[in-house]
Amino acid sequence: MLKIPNRNNILIDNYGRKIDYLRISVTDRCNLRCTYCMPEKMKFMSKKDILSFDEMYQLCEHFIARGIKKIRITGGEPLVRKGILEFINNLKSFKNMNMLDEITLTTNGTLLEDYSQELKNSGIDRINISLDTLNEETFEKITRRKNLKKVLRGIDEAKKYNFKLKINTVVLKDSNIDEIPELIYWSHKNGMDISLIETMPLGDIDGDRYDQFFSINEMRKKIEKKFTLTKSSYTTSGPSDYYKVKETGKNVGFITPLSNNFCSSCNRIRVTCTGMLYMCLGQDDKIDFKTILRSKDYIKLDAAINLAMRIKPEKHEFSIKPRMKNTKIERHMSVTGG
Ligand code: SAM
Ligand code: SF4
Repeated sequence: MLKIPNRNNILIDNYGRKIDYLRISVTDRCNLRCTYCMPEKMKFMSKKDILSFDEMYQLCEHFIARGIKKIRITGGEPLVRKGILEFINNLKSFKNMNMLDEITLTTNGTLLEDYSQELKNSGIDRINISLDTLNEETFEKITRRKNLKKVLRGIDEAKKYNFKLKINTVVLKDSNIDEIPELIYWSHKNGMDISLIETMPLGDIDGDRYDQFFSINEMRKKIEKKFTLTKSSYTTSGPSDYYKVKETGKNVGFITPLSNNFCSSCNRIRVTCTGMLYMCLGQDDKIDFKTILRSKDYIKLDAAINLAMRIKPEKHEFSIKPRMKNTKIERHMSVTGG
């Protein structure tokens, strides 16, 4: 157990934003190779650079003591890492002590068929499932793998356990824009809200991101030709701006890091699987928590959290241009976690 020197219990950054949401990437590895996320021949981190689950637990314990109320487990594909269920189960004890409100998961859905029941038992409240198409050929084009049927079976399995489920869809000019209304309808028919996301320039990929990028503002105009949208009062801790779809009664969220900046309400910090704390997905400033953790100097850990609050940037600076081969942010989303 860590000796926790400060139970101050509230984290406020330099811009007055309350930070109570930690996203932790438990692995950068994945069983898919989505074209917008990573190259086919992705170089993964060496195992020695990845935090052990014990180290991740210590980090979470310390952040919870300082005021983190919600933890999202992400990756890479979090469910491919051995020991993930035990890790989540250990975090559940903080929920039992009312120190944590929610443990949530982002997954590509390929392993939900096998793990849904255990995820429920281990204390996961909410699952975001990434699904960009319902068409097998398009799925293979986007993910470079053939797992659509397994993902759909996984979603059916997860529905049995009363998680709050949401679909996340990256809108891609070259693959799925014509399918988005159908995806909205399908998600809502299956009792799930859906968020539409713009592709962000994070890490180099094989193609040109500009060929994939499609503005969510443009997408919204297309959606409004099929559905009636009204601003919804629904909010979560995430960046989605929600609209109620009159025809289905459920919500569609728009995540627009490029078209509109939503940083004024940012309540998040992120720890990579290598133990680097990023205060912003779209900036490079980081704090090396792995070295501090491995030194077992918990006073330093506390000071590093205070520093993070002082230097969290006001906003990201994403931009996307044609033939932008080398992105400004070198790390892939799979390292930082989405
Ligand atoms: N493997 C899991 C999954 O796909 O849900 C969790 C990690 S993945 C990095 C988290 C989310 O990030 C997914 O919804 C994925 O679509 C999204 N994502 C990955 N790369 C992205 C990028 N460059 N721009 C926007 N979203 C991205
Ligand atoms: Fe894997 Fe998720 Fe990245 Fe797709 S988006 S390659 S599923 S980490």
